Amino acid sequence: MAQGTNLPPATLQGFVSRFDAFRRNRWLRRWLRLSERGTARSGFCPNCLRQDVVPHLRFEWRMRYWMICPTHGNRILTICPACQFSDPVAVDDQHSAVPFAGCGKCGADLRFVGLAALKCDTAAQLAQLQVAVTAAILQEGFSLEGIEERIPLAMLPSLLAAGIEPRDRNESQSLSRVDPRLLDDVRRSIGQVNALGRLYASADVVASRGNTRGRRVWKGDIGRLCEIALKQRFRWPLAVVELDAHQRQ
Ligand SMILES: [Zn+2]
Ligand SMILES: [Zn+2]
Repeated sequence: MAQGTNLPPATLQGFVSRFDAFRRNRWLRRWLRLSERGTARSGFCPNCLRQDVVPHLRFEWRMRYWMICPTHGNRILTICPACQFSDPVAVDDQHSAVPFAGCGKCGADLRFVGLAALKCDTAAQLAQLQVAVTAAILQEGFSLEGIEERIPLAMLPSLLAAGIEPRDRNESQSLSRVDPRLLDDVRRSIGQVNALGRLYASADVVASRGNTRGRRVWKGDIGRLCEIALKQRFRWPLAVVELDAHQRQ
């Protein structure tokens, strides 16, 4: 793979090893951009591509939740602005030979799409959340304000759906206040999930049920929770941000 690209081998190695988490946690595929046939797809940031010496895909662009470029503040695009093709940067054999910066269908240069930054707090928070989610995936675990133990990655979709902000150990502040009753439940679940170990991480369905009596339900089918988290935490806020940006114009 390193042949024919001008990227240092270490970069490519890093790219490949990042997908180890996906092999160990099958449910993570739910957060990958995939075609209907299940082939890999990628979003792109025109502004990032334009700044590249050698235009190349980013690991993060493969993720469905990666909606905003943290560097440029603009939306991550998934369709070709010139021909509306829904898969302009297909991640297939043909495209694995970087550099590339053209739409796979019409050939339009994707680096020169004029895309403005979405300047508002919500957009900045979204970008921050994306980064935190990616860090949790790569570390296969995360921290939560008020919980001392490391939380297994398999609990991320449900806790995102419940409104939490995952954080790095080094980060001092949390963006959300979590219901203390939820924290008790999380503490109990960490033990259960760790006891199941790899079995849990490779299972597509988490059978446990949340307690609905006065508490936020945060357990259930992990695939469904992946979709709920995506919708609630990324799609809806982004829709609001885009509507606001539209009205400002
Ligand atoms: Zn960018
Ligand atoms: Zn095109």
